[in-house]
Amino acid sequence: MVFQDRTLVCSDCGDDFIFSIDDQQYHLEKGYTNEPKRCLSCRRARRASYNRGGGGGFGGGGGGFGGSRQTYAIVCAQCGKEDEVPFRPTGARPVYCYDCFRSGTPQN
Ligand SMILES: [Zn+2]
Ligand SMILES: [Zn+2]
Repeated sequence: MVFQDRTLVCSDCGDDFIFSIDDQQYHLEKGYTNEPKRCLSCRRARRASYNRGGGGGFGGGGGGFGGSRQTYAIVCAQCGKEDEVPFRPTGARPVYCYDCFRSGTPQN
């Protein structure tokens, strides 16, 4: 098998990242057979949160803010404030800032 750099898409942040020849050889040495699903920064973030004893509610829909997961910048659909949310906004549904999300009931 000839190694070559491969471009994979991170399943966490959706960015392209390079699965380099070095990485592939490293994986082979370690006996890993599957490709990395996440870019380096997401892998680091994940590992960090695992070390902190997390691991319960990954994958969205877990509910609740807090922790140090990756966040995405949003503009609140209700009050227009810029904020960050711990999930990736899909555009299909409005996203709210923390305050509006917590208060629950849209007031307009
Ligand atoms: Zn990523
Ligand atoms: Zn708001």
